Amino acid sequence: MTGEGLKNRGRTRADVDERRKAVEERTGTGLTNIGFLSFDPLAASKNIENMIGAVQVPLGFVGPLRINGDHASGEFLVPMATTEGALVASVNRGCSAITAAGGAAAVVVSDAMTRAPVFRVRDTRHAVEAAAWVESNFDRLRQAAEATTSHGRLLSAQPFSAGRSFYLRLSYSTGDAMGMNMATIASEAAARLVERETGAVLISVSGNLCVDKKPAAVNAVLGRGKIVLADVTIPRQVLEDRMHAVPEAVAETCFRKCAIGSSLAASLGSNAHAANMLAALYIATGQDPAQVAEGSMVTTTCEVVDGDLYISARLPCVEVGTVGGGTRLPCQSEALSMIGCVGEGKALKLAEIVGAVVLAGELSTLCAQSAGHLGSAHSKLGR
Ligand code: NAP
Repeated sequence: MTGEGLKNRGRTRADVDERRKAVEERTGTGLTNIGFLSFDPLAASKNIENMIGAVQVPLGFVGPLRINGDHASGEFLVPMATTEGALVASVNRGCSAITAAGGAAAVVVSDAMTRAPVFRVRDTRHAVEAAAWVESNFDRLRQAAEATTSHGRLLSAQPFSAGRSFYLRLSYSTGDAMGMNMATIASEAAARLVERETGAVLISVSGNLCVDKKPAAVNAVLGRGKIVLADVTIPRQVLEDRMHAVPEAVAETCFRKCAIGSSLAASLGSNAHAANMLAALYIATGQDPAQVAEGSMVTTTCEVVDGDLYISARLPCVEVGTVGGGTRLPCQSEALSMIGCVGEGKALKLAEIVGAVVLAGELSTLCAQSAGHLGSAHSKLGR
């Protein structure tokens, strides 16, 4: 077998068909729909193992959504993949109000992917010594990490310790990749250097202070991936005409629900349903949907300003990329193409679009709840 043949072993269409047939026989289940593939399985060879087919998630679009961002500027038709009836209709309504209001601002204010190896140290004194070594040798740490990647840059190394556990929260700029594989590979190289030089024993390249795929206050405050801020002022008349809501009621709903209710529930983040928009956007565009866990910690605020509704969303963890991961899959790449976000130089634009769509979804749901329309919309569209 040639080198190429070896690399592709088990990944061709024939291999996928054969594997699926074996699973059909073993489980006594027909997998006709799962076996109906619109793309060559080789395209997914870095995204899945034991491939037997694909699950299709319905795809819709929202827009036109006007965005006045630093990188996303203009009107967009944005793809969303979901099985929740009423979600796309609701976000679309929010987009229509935002566009009629002149568009949403959306800005990326921080861009850093993190990985935090954990080491075992002898005692507190040893942890302090290891932290001091890192501070004085940051350039060496950076060189070790950056030797593994041409796009990743080590930005900082923040030490934490408790007892005999020592953590380094390493932050990277990862170009247009979401960066989790990149940061993990680079962190392993950096952690081995720390181990050699300080005697701290590397226990795991991920020590859960990263924090990947888990909601955590450290990410909500410091951010992970991109921190995106989005806001818009919706004139009273636009709100009344398009959303059948009034600014005072929307602002009160946001305050009592997102601020007080979330605080009483000790929620991380205070929003209406940010995870809904993130999940649908991530599935459509080939992002890692498990990162909705930290993405969901959005803070949504509303105020009445000069009689109009001001609404904002702070997204602390927008972990998206336009190269690598699931973005290379054919359907997901087409979805990225709809918003001009394929490949190099587009990750910040995608993050701003994510921020604006989350804002549209928050606006629509808060309006619906303030006017008592949520249940009726779901029973009409989703049942
Ligand atoms: P990746 O596909 O593993 O890496 C991105 C690749 O693109 C790198 O080889 C990079 O090269 C290259 N590249 C080319 N042009 C680039 C550009 N303009 N900007 C940045 N990179 C460019 O993707 P990743 O974003 O690092 O990781 C995403 C994947 O990680 C997803 O599939 C996700 O599900 C998975 N994931 C992994 C972990 C983990 O712990 N490993 C955790 C969560 C998720 P250089 O490196 O040479 O720059």
